Amino acid sequence: MRPFEYRLTADRTEALSIAGMERARYLGGGTNLVDLMRQNIEAPAVLVDVSRLPGSIETTPNGGLLIGAAVRNSIVAAHPVVRTRYPVLSRALLAGASAQIRNMATVGGNILQRTRCAYFYDAAGSRCNKRAPGAGCDAVDGFNRYHAIFGASEHCIATHPSDMCVALAALDAIVHLAGPEGERRVPLLAFHRLPGDHPEIETVLRPGELITAIELAPSATASNSNYRKVRDRSSYAFALVSVAAGLDVVAGRIADVRIALGGVAAKPWRAVQAEQVLRGQAPTKERFLQAAEAELAAAKAFEGNAFKIELAKRTIAAVLGELAGVDA
Ligand SMILES: Cc1cc2nc3c(=O)[nH]c(=O)nc-3n(C[C@H](O)[C@H](O)[C@H](O)COP(=O)(O)OP(=O)(O)OC[C@H]3O[C@@H](n4cnc5c(N)ncnc54)[C@H](O)[C@@H]3O)c2cc1C
Ligand code: SF4
Repeated sequence: MRPFEYRLTADRTEALSIAGMERARYLGGGTNLVDLMRQNIEAPAVLVDVSRLPGSIETTPNGGLLIGAAVRNSIVAAHPVVRTRYPVLSRALLAGASAQIRNMATVGGNILQRTRCAYFYDAAGSRCNKRAPGAGCDAVDGFNRYHAIFGASEHCIATHPSDMCVALAALDAIVHLAGPEGERRVPLLAFHRLPGDHPEIETVLRPGELITAIELAPSATASNSNYRKVRDRSSYAFALVSVAAGLDVVAGRIADVRIALGGVAAKPWRAVQAEQVLRGQAPTKERFLQAAEAELAAAKAFEGNAFKIELAKRTIAAVLGELAGVDA
């Protein structure tokens, strides 16, 4: 490992000013960044530890929730308001990593964790445009079981690995940011970028910007929500496909529905086509399958991940069926 400077601060202004130093990086729980430093994929000169910045979970005046970026994943998952009003978020967090890692990992770090593409991690032996722009991508013709079926480009077909972000996408979460140019808010759905010609640019975060919090609005779909993750084994595995969904049925019709998919794109994938098919309709098994078909019609698979298309359809229908109380 290369030498680096470590700076711990509990003050946001100080954190922002240290982050202005050359090759400085924020450090949350370190569960991803330190691994990447060990693998010689990341080489910051300064680590600004932001895990001690004030962080809490507070209700907002409109009845929503503001979750500080430094709050640990396990604290968010266990919070009574999250469990009752945003069950999809609690379940997504509990589906990720291990209890020990969730105790270390922070909300900000989870959002910015890097892809788990094996070629990205193989700095010594593989070509990867995300790690070395212009080098090529060994995943396109290689082992691509875990890779994208939506939004990929010829330059990168990696997926975003976070379970939490899929739930946040279904909840229309807002990311609060602070940076040298002031504060701003970005919808989670607009925060991560698809690869296009520049897979190395993964988010809309500006240099030195700090994630300070996540904001959730109250909604009927949030209260009746769930997360299902399909993976190769029951622990320590990232999603092949995951579904976060919320459903509000009023007088036998779908008044509102939110669906997001994980394991299928470089960002949490909001299933807009499926949602359109469902609004105003009766919540039946056939309609859920029809909605899933509509969403997956645009999917493009690679040799190793064609199974994801059928898997995603069935998982969408199953989660919606569960939420509606019909067998799907
Ligand atoms: C064995 C293993 C299994 C795992 N399984 C899963 C899984 O199944 N599902 C899943 O979702 N995740 C999984 N993870 C990933 C884990 O969830 C992430 O490592 C963790 O969420 C990252 O959070 P952190 O606070 O440790 O981030 P760090 O490693 O500290 O940082 C990650 C990135 O975020 C940046 N950062 C941190 N905080 C801020 C901030 N406030 N503002 C701006 N930038 C910031 C850092 O600079 C860095 O780039 C697994 C990890 C391991 C090691
Ligand atoms: S899919 Fe993306 S992350 Fe994986 S090797 Fe290709 S460019 Fe790198």
